[in-house]
Amino acid sequence: MRNLAAREVPVGGSDGVSESLVAQLIAAAIDVRARAYAPYSHFAVGAALLAGDGQIYTGCNVENASYGLTVCAERNAVAHAVVSGAHDFVAIAVVTENGVAPCGACRQVLAEFNPQLTVILVDAAGRQRHFSLAELLPAAFGPDQLPAMPADADVE
Ligand SMILES: [Zn+2]
Repeated sequence: MRNLAAREVPVGGSDGVSESLVAQLIAAAIDVRARAYAPYSHFAVGAALLAGDGQIYTGCNVENASYGLTVCAERNAVAHAVVSGAHDFVAIAVVTENGVAPCGACRQVLAEFNPQLTVILVDAAGRQRHFSLAELLPAAFGPDQLPAMPADADVE
């Protein structure tokens, strides 16, 4: 898996994330993918989320014998970022054997923070596909669709 060198693929520019940052993101996703806990699916996923300040937050999938409790790499990367105080995300790289896109649940969680997030999908051969999250989750439900809270609402 260490042969997934981003520099082997022409990228960068059009989606606003520099080629070197894309390479760093992918390298981080490859590294964390090695820590995936996937004894049931054997489908290891590594995700690396780039925050607006340049910090990278990683996540891997964590499965459970109670299958429904499994948490995807992308959502674990979001949790990692949020517990670190980051909410402003620019891009995410997701590395899998076959370069698949995030599941619907992860698309929704990512859209909470940036509906225009750049999503970089990478397979084991290092092939990349770049999307806007809006392409992967059109007409998304988000915070803007919730009714406004009354000004005097007691929110804790
Ligand atoms: Zn998911």
